[in-house]
Amino acid sequence: MKHRVVVVGAGFAGLQAVKDLKGANCQITLIDQRNHHLFQPLLYQVATTLLATSEIAWPIRRVLRNRSDVTTLLATVSGVDVALREVVIDDDRRIPFDTLIVASGARHAYFGNDRWEIDAPGLKTLEDATTIRRRLLLAFERAELTEDEAEREAQLTFAVIGAGPTGVELVGIIAELAQRVLPDEFRRIDTRKARIMLIEAGPRILPAFPEKLSTYAAATLATRGVDVRTGLPVTSVSAKGITLGEQPIAARTVIWAAGVQASPAARWLGAPADRAGRVLAGPQLTVPGDDAIFVLGDTAHVESKGAPVPGIAPAAKQQGKHAARVIRARLAGRAEPPPFRYSHMGNLATIGRNAAVIDFNGFTLKGRLAWWIWGIAHIYFLIGTRSRLAVALSWLWSFVSGHNSARLITQKETLRKLD
Ligand SMILES: Cc1cc2nc3c(=O)[nH]c(=O)nc-3n(C[C@H](O)[C@H](O)[C@H](O)COP(=O)(O)OP(=O)(O)OC[C@H]3O[C@@H](n4cnc5c(N)ncnc54)[C@H](O)[C@@H]3O)c2cc1C
Repeated sequence: MKHRVVVVGAGFAGLQAVKDLKGANCQITLIDQRNHHLFQPLLYQVATTLLATSEIAWPIRRVLRNRSDVTTLLATVSGVDVALREVVIDDDRRIPFDTLIVASGARHAYFGNDRWEIDAPGLKTLEDATTIRRRLLLAFERAELTEDEAEREAQLTFAVIGAGPTGVELVGIIAELAQRVLPDEFRRIDTRKARIMLIEAGPRILPAFPEKLSTYAAATLATRGVDVRTGLPVTSVSAKGITLGEQPIAARTVIWAAGVQASPAARWLGAPADRAGRVLAGPQLTVPGDDAIFVLGDTAHVESKGAPVPGIAPAAKQQGKHAARVIRARLAGRAEPPPFRYSHMGNLATIGRNAAVIDFNGFTLKGRLAWWIWGIAHIYFLIGTRSRLAVALSWLWSFVSGHNSARLITQKETLRKLD
């Protein structure tokens, strides 16, 4: 019987590992709870009507159609029987493995206030994105409908909590929607009067970037009408709005972009984890004490050159590559490669039309050129020609016409009972 490799999660890390195991002497089972691989870096553009869901996600089966060595299962993993070498999925069914790769990612974390999720959804899945898109668009509709001035103001107040790249990117496009895309379509409201707030408990926005880029981003957002608040935590969230420190703010649309928590992989494996729940991975990205179980990407705490590896897509892909290299060497009876070393390419974030910031390991760039580089890099990393063309066309169309095409309110509310 061939060596059985089970991979949990077809995100950046898991899919990369599967791709790099092509031609290795093993049989692979790839398990994911969704039928698609998702390009999360552009999720915020689905949430804000710029892109459609199918432009940033691909059916896993389609991606791996030419790989007869890979079986794809649409199933949710609920545990791992480490002693019996089995992954437990829906209905307590079991998938045996010789080597296991756990790359099940992370979710947003509410720092002990999980009930806030109902009123302040985070952004991690396509469902999250369409939930947020629905709320954004409905807020403008309700503002147009109401006769009550206070309610209109609350409907036109949008609060994004957390000012990392996702928070900054979200407010950048929401501001564009209100200022540029929607004004001539509404008759009773002036969408340009919308109040868009970016809230950060820490001292500055984009804390992972050099301070001068944070300052530039905050100033750019301010000129686009975004109300940037730093240094005060949100102390409560409800359907009515938020409390910032002690100050209540009526805001019917609140979005959470403030923290992440790893998948329950550490619990499944009975492995040690850090404060964010990430499994502490060894130098070859395996679980301490079990060389046949790899933990990769956002669900793992990996150290390289004495520092923790960041939870970003290139890091997850590099880990997927490394795990495949180790497994291939073992299957071929060769010496294993040296321990994992992360190579950091840089940090990028857009602030909106013609404005982005880039930090290439100390070489920084901002403004229009950074925005173009950001766009080209993201198109390059998409899967397949059709998606690249579709995204490029959607961006070009929006740039030239000022219209965003993915503006349909389609699904039912997934979290709140109010709608
Ligand atoms: C909104 C947003 C914006 C981002 N922007 C950027 C950016 O601009 N640049 C950048 O480099 N990084 C960005 N990131 C981070 C980047 O997307 C992650 O670091 C990367 O996706 C991690 O890859 P992964 O393979 O570890 O996890 P993921 O890509 O999250 O994949 C995990 C997979 O596991 C599956 N899964 C989870 N639990 C189970 C289960 N129980 N059973 C079966 N399957 C399961 C999921 O369905 C998913 O397919 C962003 C993330 C988000 C959420």
